[in-house]
Amino acid sequence: MYRCKICRKVYVAPVKYCDCGNDEFEVVVQQQPKQASLYNIQNIISWIIFLLCLTAAVLVWFI
Ligand SMILES: [Zn+2]
Repeated sequence: MYRCKICRKVYVAPVKYCDCGNDEFEVVVQQQPKQASLYNIQNIISWIIFLLCLTAAVLVWFI
């Protein structure tokens, strides 16, 4: 992704000129979504473990 240095508009594909007339762009590296998805996976796993423990506790209660 490319962000205009003047108006901060983000372009997915490289363009020669921004809408504001600027031709200098900075490359934006997307790392946030990866960290977010990794966090989500850890969150889901912890929830599954929690639900398994809860299910086991309920089963013991009923036996
Ligand atoms: Zn611009």
